[in-house]
Amino acid sequence: MNQTTTGIIQVAVPTPLRRFFDYLLPESFSMELLQPGIRLRIPFQHRELIGVFIGFANKSDVPPHKLKHIIECLDHQPVMTPDMLELCHWAASYYHYPIGEVILGTLPAWLRQGKAADVAFSKKMFDISERREDILELNSEQQNALNAIEALQNQFQVLLLDGVTGSGKTEVYLQAIAKVLARGSQVMVLVPEIGLTPQTIQRFRMRFSVPVVALHSGMTEKQRYQAWYASKKGIAKIIIGTRSAVFTPFVKLGLIVIDEEHDLSFKQQDSFRYHARDVAIMRAHLNHIPVVLGSATPSLETLHNVRQGRYQYLQLKERAGGAKLPQFHVLNIRNMRLEQGLSLPLMTEMREHLEKGNQVMLFLNRRGFAPIIICETCGWMVQCKRCDARMTYHYATARLHCHHCDTQRKLQTKCEGCGESHLQAMGQGTERIEKVLSAYFPNYSIARIDRDTTRRKGSMDDLLTRIQSGEHQILIGTQMLAKGHHFPNVTLVAILDADGGFFSADFRALERMGQLLLQVSGRAGRTEKAGKVLIQTRHANHPLLFQLLKENYQKFSSTILEERKQAELPPYTFFALFRAEAHREEYAMDFLQQVKSKIVEKTVTVVGPLAALMPRRAGKYRVQLLLQCKQRSPLQQLLKNILPQIEAIPLKSRVRWSLDVDPLEVF
Ligand code: ADP
Ligand code: ZN
Ligand code: ZN
Repeated sequence: MNQTTTGIIQVAVPTPLRRFFDYLLPESFSMELLQPGIRLRIPFQHRELIGVFIGFANKSDVPPHKLKHIIECLDHQPVMTPDMLELCHWAASYYHYPIGEVILGTLPAWLRQGKAADVAFSKKMFDISERREDILELNSEQQNALNAIEALQNQFQVLLLDGVTGSGKTEVYLQAIAKVLARGSQVMVLVPEIGLTPQTIQRFRMRFSVPVVALHSGMTEKQRYQAWYASKKGIAKIIIGTRSAVFTPFVKLGLIVIDEEHDLSFKQQDSFRYHARDVAIMRAHLNHIPVVLGSATPSLETLHNVRQGRYQYLQLKERAGGAKLPQFHVLNIRNMRLEQGLSLPLMTEMREHLEKGNQVMLFLNRRGFAPIIICETCGWMVQCKRCDARMTYHYATARLHCHHCDTQRKLQTKCEGCGESHLQAMGQGTERIEKVLSAYFPNYSIARIDRDTTRRKGSMDDLLTRIQSGEHQILIGTQMLAKGHHFPNVTLVAILDADGGFFSADFRALERMGQLLLQVSGRAGRTEKAGKVLIQTRHANHPLLFQLLKENYQKFSSTILEERKQAELPPYTFFALFRAEAHREEYAMDFLQQVKSKIVEKTVTVVGPLAALMPRRAGKYRVQLLLQCKQRSPLQQLLKNILPQIEAIPLKSRVRWSLDVDPLEVF
């Protein structure tokens, strides 16, 4: 450590400025107390803030009389470990996000608020389950995968575990984890937001007689801090968490597992737009440990890395334990009469499965009753007043909801176009399907799983438990149903509308559609009961649908990768997206036009500024500017160079702008 006698120190402060701030130590202060990563209370503008000590400085650009003294030092031990500081440095520079906000943002709220770092905790969180689950004997593919992971102690390597749904990926993780624990190391497991159910945590707790802690947004601040603390002290051996858990400190991290690595919830979509998978990979690199990415439907980015030889490829081709993969049947509904989105062959099939005492699951990625309220006389449709979007009708509340800005209002009775009262609900959401099915199948109980029925804390788990116990026979849900759940009695899965992906302006729509179809169908026939998947589509002959269903995901993804290569799209090129929004469109346009004028790098292609696909949301006009480059580093360098110039654009005060590196949504 570079100690100096100037008394000047550098502090990370949670502000939008992309730098550290200089402070003075009080003269009486004993410098030995300071170690990087310790929290300080500091005066900042006219407030007091909590910052993190970074290091000593020889001099400051701020004139000496303007430097302020810190108020107090809050910790004896650093709350940020050296490897976490290093990771934050990398993330701040890669995502071009203010370093102070990155550093403070990775700390639990408890610490950001200045509460004591050393606290006594109740014994409950170290609760160790008494029941032990059996360790399964691995099949040869699983054994190969386990051996490959095991061969990489204390060595950085990314491994892709590409295994069809139910192929026993989790069993491989569990056995790999057992070996790491036996060596006295800790393990981090990241799962998608919807995948972190008590069942998931229970599966880990039943396997290991060590403390397993969860870390997710549904926990209280205190619970989160307890879990964080237990990991940092080495008390917790396994941390299972969602996206932000990637920033949890460990004493000795031995392995990182990322389940469902393709899942979108790993990317933070606002403020600090990091991708937890990519941060985890950098973390594994810094810690010299392996990281396992698991998925039945790997992202094209990851598959591309495998092809380039950067990631090791492990495959599980068959379902484990004798279960068979479900059979797919494409239901061509092109000229078919549908009853509220349901075809007669589907209803007939449903009845057969239900009469055998099995469960059926229907999937529709649209909640609410109807997505459109239209006037039968003149064709006028109800729009959100604050967004360029239609409002969805919700039957239970008899209200219109905008799913983009959360505006709600009473269902009007008169058309604003012609004044008549002939408003009709058109199209279907899960709520409507539930209504239709309960009339059609009065003797069966229906469970609906979407954001509306699972909003209350714990309600998702209640629903899952009741489904598992067989209380409901018909399940209808949005993509919340697609993730990881294990429903042994589901023998029929139906996808009501597979066509969304064919028309979207988003170049990733097909990849997503394929992933979703396979994930949803992966819920069928998970045990000895065979499963069947029905897919309603108007594009039954689409070659990609054929590849996905009749061949496999590997063929399907190869075709899409080839298309991306031809079109020079990610993962063959690199994107960065500037977004700006303002209450007048020209502010956002002008601002991004000025950003564009700073870009002189020839290898970077600039598209825009253009209005976003939804030009107005929540009353703000949205404009974007896309930067594209065949290599990562010139793009990174360019962003680094122009950001200070962008910060100096006066129009900045009239817009809200952001930069998204490796954006997953570009529309
Ligand atoms: P995935 O994570 O790939 O979806 P899981 O690990 O959850 O798969 O395994 C799916 C089912 O197969 C589980 O019920 C699991 O207990 C079982 N299973 C996994 N591996 C084996 C094995 N080697 N022998 C028998 N059953 C297995
Ligand atoms: Zn009308
Ligand atoms: Zn709206």
